[in-house]
Amino acid sequence: MYNYHAFLIKYAEIGIKGKNRYLFEDALVGQVEKSLVKVEGHFKVFKQPGRVFVEAKGEFDFDGAVEALKRVFGIEYICPVYIVPSLDMDVIYKGVVDHIGEAYPDEHFTFKVLVKRANKDLAKTSPEIAAELGELLLSKYSDRLSVDVHNPDRFIRLEIRDRGYIYSDQIKGACGMPVGTAGKAMCLLSGGIDSPVSTYMIARRGVKVEAVYFHAPPYTSERAKQKVVDLAKIVARYTGTIKLHIVNFTDIQLSIYQKCPHDELTIIMRRYMMKIAEELAKKNDCLALVTGESIGQVASQTMQSLLTTNAVCTLPVYRPLIAFDKQDIVDISQKIDTFETSIQPYEDCCTIFVAKHPVTKPTLERIEKSEIKLNDNIDELYKKAIETEEIVICEAE
Ligand code: ATP
Ligand code: MG
Repeated sequence: MYNYHAFLIKYAEIGIKGKNRYLFEDALVGQVEKSLVKVEGHFKVFKQPGRVFVEAKGEFDFDGAVEALKRVFGIEYICPVYIVPSLDMDVIYKGVVDHIGEAYPDEHFTFKVLVKRANKDLAKTSPEIAAELGELLLSKYSDRLSVDVHNPDRFIRLEIRDRGYIYSDQIKGACGMPVGTAGKAMCLLSGGIDSPVSTYMIARRGVKVEAVYFHAPPYTSERAKQKVVDLAKIVARYTGTIKLHIVNFTDIQLSIYQKCPHDELTIIMRRYMMKIAEELAKKNDCLALVTGESIGQVASQTMQSLLTTNAVCTLPVYRPLIAFDKQDIVDISQKIDTFETSIQPYEDCCTIFVAKHPVTKPTLERIEKSEIKLNDNIDELYKKAIETEEIVICEAE
């Protein structure tokens, strides 16, 4: 394969951010640099108007770099680019012709040349340059190249900036916004399929994420906890390092089990999870909670149940999957590589004390009335759960 030494990064929505655009560009540069830390090679990442470039010095792991860049939110396209270090048009033309010959040897294709001039000092206009280049390519490779301006097999793109940048292939990026441009959220992360996907999706909008997991030892095992840590590490490939708060929920859960109607267990338990998550969120400067809920998926996710759960929160609760079908969620979890870990069969604290017939249409009045029975010691248990939290820093491996 042809040896490229640089990438031209086209960014997604950052382009429309007006005066604050540089903040988004700087965040993107930072995220791109971070993503390449573990990739073999030395890279220089820099901005140019409307673009970010990654230039490798010497040998580097091309596939590893592409894989890493595909995980950076904010990138729409990753374009392997060939650089001609000159602004002399004859040198650039020769560079394009030679490059196309080397990058696509023996390949037959139709093409269209697209030229963009960031450097307006040049005597020729972009269409003039495109026409001249087209002619040159045709005369040099007349046996295998032809022009098709409507539906070409390949666009041959030339951007003239401080130098000439030539590229043709565009690899689709993750889109969204660079992490760190939107504030921080606390994501409720269980070992299931949905919450890693919702965490990924909120981060894709530029949100920095922390996570909280509730476990109930000895009813839930060490292995179930490890599964959540493993999931957080996979999601961290996209979001950057995740601070995971692990909260011991056993006493609260047992108390609810002993004192409240069993068909309301899940709802009351979920209300306590949300309350604790909110307290941790506020302590850690998070502006919202995030869950993997989807309307109607289970009894605790009917609209009535969601209303009852939501009522304990003062922070906004974002539910990126609220209108998604299960299969759509599964498709994303496969794409981001969390699926295989999510389906490992370890118990979850939501499943150990479940009622056979949980309420599907709880009312706030009824639930609040049931919760009065917890009053003798719930504040104490709640405080202890927060005080004894364990923190695991989950980094991508
Ligand atoms: P998931 O696949 O994310 O576990 P689920 O379909 O199993 O979702 P529920 O168990 O009802 O659904 O949980 C709904 C949401 O509540 C989850 O997506 C997650 O955000 C949060 N949640 C549930 N259990 C826990 C837990 N033990 N720790 C942290 N958050 C949890
Ligand atoms: Mg679950």
